[in-house]
Amino acid sequence: MAVPKRRVSKARRDKRRSNVWKLSAPTLEKCSQCGELKRSHRVCPECGYYNGRQVVKVDA
Ligand SMILES: [Zn+2]
Repeated sequence: MAVPKRRVSKARRDKRRSNVWKLSAPTLEKCSQCGELKRSHRVCPECGYYNGRQVVKVDA
């Protein structure tokens, strides 16, 4: 932001200071295999299943 103070509009400055740009928490879904909460499009950390089959070995 090495820009002179008056070069940044109030809208741009205030938008930066607001939290509209902040990331929201990742959406969690239930694993279809074990029912644990997991992130969508990720291998389940509990059972190692993805898309109906085991893709990663998990030590019990
Ligand atoms: Zn699972």
